[in-house]
Amino acid sequence: MRVLRVALDVPIAKLFDYLIDSVINSATPAAVGDRVVVPFGTRQRVGVVVEVADASAVAVSRLKPVTRVLEDAPRLSAAWLEQMRFLATYYQRPFGETVAGALPARLRSLKPLPKRRKSAAGSSSGTGAAGHRLVSSHQPNSAQIQAIERISAALGSFRTFLLHGITGSGKTEVYLRLIAEVLSRGLQALVLVPEIGLTPQLEARFRQAFPDARIAVLHSALEDAARTHAWLDAARGDASIILGTRLAVLTPLPRLGIVVVDEEHDASFKQHEGLRYSGRDAAVLRAKLADCPVVLGTATPSLETWFNCRAGRYALLTLPERAVPGAQLPTVRTVDLRIESAEHGLAKPVLEAIRARLARGEQSLIFINRRGYAPVLACEACGWAAGCTRCSARMVLHTTAVGGLHCHHCGALEKVPRECPTCGNVDLRPVGRGTQRIEETLTALFPEAHILRIDRDSTRQRAQLARTLEGIGRGEGDILVGTQLLAKGHDFPNLTLVCVLNADSALLSTDYRSAERLFATLAQVGGRSGRREQPGEVLVQTRYPGHPMFQALIRHDYAGFAESQLAEREGAGFPPFVHEAALRAEASKLEVAMAFLRAAARLVEVPEAIQVYDPVPHVITRRAGVERAQLLLQSSSRPALQEFLRLWSATLPASTSSGVRWHLDVDPIEFD
Ligand code: ADP
Ligand code: ZN
Ligand code: ZN
Repeated sequence: MRVLRVALDVPIAKLFDYLIDSVINSATPAAVGDRVVVPFGTRQRVGVVVEVADASAVAVSRLKPVTRVLEDAPRLSAAWLEQMRFLATYYQRPFGETVAGALPARLRSLKPLPKRRKSAAGSSSGTGAAGHRLVSSHQPNSAQIQAIERISAALGSFRTFLLHGITGSGKTEVYLRLIAEVLSRGLQALVLVPEIGLTPQLEARFRQAFPDARIAVLHSALEDAARTHAWLDAARGDASIILGTRLAVLTPLPRLGIVVVDEEHDASFKQHEGLRYSGRDAAVLRAKLADCPVVLGTATPSLETWFNCRAGRYALLTLPERAVPGAQLPTVRTVDLRIESAEHGLAKPVLEAIRARLARGEQSLIFINRRGYAPVLACEACGWAAGCTRCSARMVLHTTAVGGLHCHHCGALEKVPRECPTCGNVDLRPVGRGTQRIEETLTALFPEAHILRIDRDSTRQRAQLARTLEGIGRGEGDILVGTQLLAKGHDFPNLTLVCVLNADSALLSTDYRSAERLFATLAQVGGRSGRREQPGEVLVQTRYPGHPMFQALIRHDYAGFAESQLAEREGAGFPPFVHEAALRAEASKLEVAMAFLRAAARLVEVPEAIQVYDPVPHVITRRAGVERAQLLLQSSSRPALQEFLRLWSATLPASTSSGVRWHLDVDPIEFD
C-alpha cells in the first residue's frame, strides 16, 4: 500500500492522506512535489504531495484514492518545499495554505493551463551560451569593480552582502555584471524590486542589457495567464532572469545562482495578508537554501540590515560616489518655516528656486506625500470636519476628475456637502494641502510653466504612468508635483531641484520607524536631482531645521543617522534589539476585539523570555466598518518567541468561530 500525504489549501495545520492506485497512475508513479487532484468533502481539489508513506494513521477503509496526478507543470522540488515549510513555520501559517498561496491560481485549480500565445509574457527566447551576452556602455569604476569581484568570489556558496551605494552610484550596473557571470555558468538570477509598475525603466534596462536571455517578469498585477507562463518559465529553468516583486521569491527555481534585492529597505517587500512574509528576509533564506550569494542593494539600508552588517552577519560593500563622471550628490538645505512665511504652502526660497530652474530650462520636483486637494474639509463656525462613516478617519477633499470627498482607507466616495451638517454654515473650508492644491497654486504662480501632477489619481494605469515617467526623463514638464510615485528609482537627467513640502508630519509621528522611513524617502527623492553634470539642490520646508534627522540628511550621513537611531532603539528596547510579533483582532465592536485579545493573553503561561503587552486599539481603529485592536509581543530571543507563538496559536480558537477574526504578524512593520 502506498499513501500520499497531501498539503491542501485549507486553514488547518495538517496533511491529508490518500491512497495511490498504481493502475490509474502506472506510467508515472506519484512522488513528493507532484500536484494531485484529490476528493475533499464534496469537491475535488488540487494539492501537493509532501510525503510518500507505506502506512497511515487513518484506517485503510476510510482512505480515498487520489483522482489524478497532474503533469502539466514541473514537479516541485524538495528544496522548494523546504522553503515553504520554513516560511509556514516562521510566519505561523498552515503549510497547505502557504504552498497553495505560492502557486499561481491556475496551478491550484482544476482548469487546464492556459495555452501559450507566441508573443506572450515578453520572454524573448534564447538559450544556451549566447544567453549571457551583456550589452553595457559602462566600464565599471573601481568601487563597482571591487563589489563585483567580492560577490563573484562568493558565487557557489551562501553569503549575504549589503551593497550600500548612494543614489546614482551604479548599483544596477553591479547587478548586471554579476548576473552576466551567473548566466555564463548556466544558472538563474532572481531579482526582487519593490514595485515593478513604478520602475518600468528597470525592466527595459534588463532587456537591453541581456538581449539574448529569457527574462520572466512576475508581479501581482499580471493577468492570470501571463503570470502562469512566467512562473512556468522560471520553474522549468527556461527563464534565466526572474525579475519581480516580493512574490517572485516564492517561485521554484531549479538552478538559482544569485539573488538580488534592490531597495531592500522598502516597506513594500512586506506582505500584509495571508502569509505575512518579508520578501527581503525570504530572499536571504532562499539564497541560503540554494547555496548562493544574496545582494541587498540600497542607499538607505533598513536598520535591521545595518545591524546585521555591524554584527558581521552580512558583508558590507560601499559605492560612495555617483557613477556618472562629474555628477555629485545634491546640496540639501532646510527652509525654516518659522522664519519664512509659506503662503499657499510654498515658502519664498522654494518659489525663487523654482523660478531659477524655469529660467534655465531645468525641471523641478515638488514632493508632497499627500494626494487630493486638502486632507480636511472643515466648518470654521462649529469645528465640524468631514469624516468617513466606515472608518475612524477624515475624508480627503478631491477637486479634479472624480471630485468629492474620498476616504483613503476604505475607498468611500461622497459628494461635498452644501452646508455644514451640524450647524448649517455654508462656508466650508479646505484645510491643509495635497498634490492637487499645490498644482493649482503653482499654475496660478507660474502660468507659463508646464506642470505635471503624478499621483495615483492622475495616473490610474500602469502603462500611462510608465509613459509619463518616460516623458519626464526626456525633459517633458517644467514642474512636477508628486507623491512617493515620483520618488523611486527614476532617472530624470534634466531635474536639478527637489522641494519637500510636508516632511514634518512624519517627524511628529509616534511610530518609532517613521524617522528611518522619512530619511530613506528624502534621500531617495532628493537623489532624483543632479544625476548628470548640473548640480542638484534639495530644499526641505520644516519647522524643525535643527532636527538631527535633517542634519544627517544635509551631510549625506546615513551611517551617522543609523548609529543614532540604533542607539535610540537599543535604549527603548525596540527592534532590531528585540524581536516582535503582533496578534491582531477584528470585530464589529471594539470591545469584542479587545476582550478576545485580553483572553488570549491569559490562555497560556507566558515564559519569562517573552513580554506580552496590553492590547490597544489601532491608531485608525475602525476601517471599512471593522474595529481593530492588537497586542504586541517582544522577546530578545527569536527561538523563544517562535516556540511561544507555535504553542500559543494552537490554543487560540478558530478565527471564524467567535465573531472575531484574528491573525499573527511576525516581525510586523506597520501598526496603523
Ligand atoms: P543606482 O541604482 O545606484 O541609483 P544606477 O545604476 O541607476 O544607480 O546608475 C546611475 C547612472 O550612472 C545611470 O545613468 C548609469 O547608466 C550610470 N552608470 C553606472 N555605472 C557607470 C559607470 N561605471 N560609468 C559611467 N556611468 C555609469
Ligand atoms: Zn458647522
Ligand atoms: Zn473609510
